[in-house]
Amino acid sequence: MAIRFYNTAGGEMQDFVSMVPGKVSMYHCGPTVYGRAHIGNLRTYIYWDILRRLLEFEGYEVNQVMNITDVGHLTDDGDEGEDKMTKALIKENKPLTLETMRELAERNTKVFFEDMQSIGILQPTSLPRASDHIADDIALITLLDNHGFTYQTSDGVYFDSSQDKSYGTKLKGALGVRESSDDQQRIVNTEKKSPRDFALWKKNESLGWESPWGKGFPGWHIECSAMCSAHFGPTLDIHTGGKDHIAVHHTNEIAQSENAFGLPLAHYWLHSNFLTINDEKIAKSAENGITMGDIEEKGYSPKAFRYLMLTAHYRSELSFSWESLESAQTALDRLSDIASEEYNESIPPDKESIDRCVIALSNDLNTPALMSEVWSIARGDLTATVKSSTLVTIDRLLGLDLGARTVLVVPQRIQELLNERNDARSRKDFEHADTLRNHLLELGYEVIDDANGSKVKRVRT
Ligand code: AMP
Ligand code: ZN
Repeated sequence: MAIRFYNTAGGEMQDFVSMVPGKVSMYHCGPTVYGRAHIGNLRTYIYWDILRRLLEFEGYEVNQVMNITDVGHLTDDGDEGEDKMTKALIKENKPLTLETMRELAERNTKVFFEDMQSIGILQPTSLPRASDHIADDIALITLLDNHGFTYQTSDGVYFDSSQDKSYGTKLKGALGVRESSDDQQRIVNTEKKSPRDFALWKKNESLGWESPWGKGFPGWHIECSAMCSAHFGPTLDIHTGGKDHIAVHHTNEIAQSENAFGLPLAHYWLHSNFLTINDEKIAKSAENGITMGDIEEKGYSPKAFRYLMLTAHYRSELSFSWESLESAQTALDRLSDIASEEYNESIPPDKESIDRCVIALSNDLNTPALMSEVWSIARGDLTATVKSSTLVTIDRLLGLDLGARTVLVVPQRIQELLNERNDARSRKDFEHADTLRNHLLELGYEVIDDANGSKVKRVRT
């Protein structure tokens, strides 16, 4: 089945064709782990997980890399301000060393992995830490230096955008967004030749790694370029991030990688839109950074949050509210009930329904269209067993754990009571059979008799 995406490179819908048939290389800009990820960050990663699930459902072998930014991301994406990790260490009153920085990063990374797991994000193939790739950063900066794309200032090594004739032209909207931003217009660093130039290496005498340009640390953009080439070579199939990455981070990644290697960095660029609350983008700095901890504390399941994200298209802004999460929880519970009601793994799913779901999702990762197909299956007139099998199969795309309650392990005692009841029935001792049926119901198991014999179904008590 053809898979299509809106490709920010080119600004149009395009059919997806991987470089190597049957295989996909995919890179996601990962979190900066100076604190717990908020639900806006997590929104983004849910869609890339759905993307991976779709590709795998369609038979691709997916090499999925998501980096962990544990150094180098300044408080301003455009290169000014402090390193976010350093700032967090100062806030915690910790000594500024590479060890304490790593310790802080690993602590937050662990929580990030737990959050990912709770919302059904499958573990990517690799999760490289930026601080494990310093040698790759230095090699890439050296390559750019050899090709004449760098200059030095008193505080670092910068990319010279005037040497790159196609700077900022590869992603739709890159320059438009950038030029209209006040931050980008300001030349805060007066040694920079142009506001577009950006740091490849920041000198720092007290904290960092040795390099040919003095002690310091890499820029955020070079880290992603270096991790991409370390994992995939010069070119990969799909590169993703939030739409805030288009104007600066991804534009700069492209400038670095393509001028270093002379090849496209990625063939497809996908960008997700923001999660907002009260019309404001959720941000760690804005004090509206709700986390999965907050969601669980209020008694909602992490999968209800995932469900809510699936109701919106990844390129649309989505406004979060507790009321919408409440509705998502109700809808998810209902769907789970339908999916687990009559599940029997030997019953094949309905192929036509599955095809309709795959077609819906293949059209630029259209999760709302997918959910509407899912509900027409749930409300439709397939038999209960086929319905359950079909929904459980589709859950490989959804990741909502719809099959979680489907494998009923009947406890031995319950099975013995059921056997005793069946014996009573065959002896025509209906009174005893009914007593046992009622007893089983008290224990939380309803007896169902059909053409295939008797079985029990777990009922909510
Ligand atoms: P950061 O940890 O700041 O590097 O961001 C990690 C990812 O979250 C990036 O892909 C951002 O684009 C994305 N992101 C940040 N804020 C939001 C938001 N409010 N809604 C959706 N995605 C976001
Ligand atoms: Zn990146």
